[in-house]
Amino acid sequence: MQTAFITGISGQDGAYLAELLLNKGYRVIGTRRPNKKPNFWRLKELGIIDHEHLGFVDLDLLSLDSCKETLASVKPHEVYNLAAQSMVSASFSEPILTANVTGIGALNLLEAIRLVDSSIKFYQASSSEMYGVAHKIPQDELTLPHPRSPYGAAKLFAHCMTVNYREAQGIFAVSGILFNHESPLRSSDYVTRKITTGIARIKLGLSNVLELGNLNAKRDWGYAREYVQGMHLMLQADKADTFVLATGHTHTVREFVSFACRRAGFDIEWRGHGVDEVAINLATNKELVRVNKEFYRPVDIDITMGNTDKAKRELGWQ
Ligand code: NAP
Repeated sequence: MQTAFITGISGQDGAYLAELLLNKGYRVIGTRRPNKKPNFWRLKELGIIDHEHLGFVDLDLLSLDSCKETLASVKPHEVYNLAAQSMVSASFSEPILTANVTGIGALNLLEAIRLVDSSIKFYQASSSEMYGVAHKIPQDELTLPHPRSPYGAAKLFAHCMTVNYREAQGIFAVSGILFNHESPLRSSDYVTRKITTGIARIKLGLSNVLELGNLNAKRDWGYAREYVQGMHLMLQADKADTFVLATGHTHTVREFVSFACRRAGFDIEWRGHGVDEVAINLATNKELVRVNKEFYRPVDIDITMGNTDKAKRELGWQ
């Protein structure tokens, strides 16, 4: 039986990946943070929390000793490093925590693999946030990075270390550069769920208006359950490499809102510009959505759009 070790199993991708690997016959071991009560609502939602081949261990990602001891006891064949301080907005107020968890955490795992068992395969959850300023559209594995947040910079460090351990230490270390991917399991802190939950609450009469930041941001949004399949495929490839996973389509936040409103049966019209822009509910002539400057990032990314030719060609993923 193959053993997969998933850091960040309580998150959106961790839950879907655990489900996928359990269905494939893996033994799956996920991590809990020491001194933090784990919240496994996503594993419960997917109905796998009590699966006989699912287990948990404590891991302090910031400690090399903890990473070494855990890998030595779990003896995994594959490590998926999904744990991160993953909120871009929070990374501006917590840059050092983000650098440590999102950047150094990945390095601790790579170093632990090198010291404990260099045959363990490693997947690093890299991000389109590493591209930041779009030097090329669509973005592929060779596009120049230019992160616009401490989160993007920390992910870039982790990505570079993954490539370095592959090239210098001969470790099967893969970097998946994933563009935004969403699902009903996505935390409501992220804009997609903020929009869908916000519009649903208005529909149910629980709130009157939804406030958002930059409506012009364009993102390449996909479906998380399909993206975790790509993670697994990357570790089954003949050689370790770097792959972009995306849809190849990009949409503004405004378009996402318009779609969610249509889905909920609201007929809206956009009026005004910049911070004064609002979406009017034509049935009531009242504001349904408005912009709040507080939700702007200090610097934003105008557009993300991925080119997945390599993943299609070499992994058969799209
Ligand atoms: P998520 O739902 O936010 O999950 C993040 C996971 O990291 C959770 O299990 C969380 O544990 C854990 N974590 C947070 N802070 C930690 C810390 N200080 N120490 C140890 N673990 C910590 O993220 P996701 O959407 O599943 O994404 C999975 C990975 O892919 C992340 O690394 C993310 O940055 C990356 N990524 C995501 C996307 C996307 O669009 N979803 C795109 C590109 C890359 P708790 O439950 O204990 O908080």
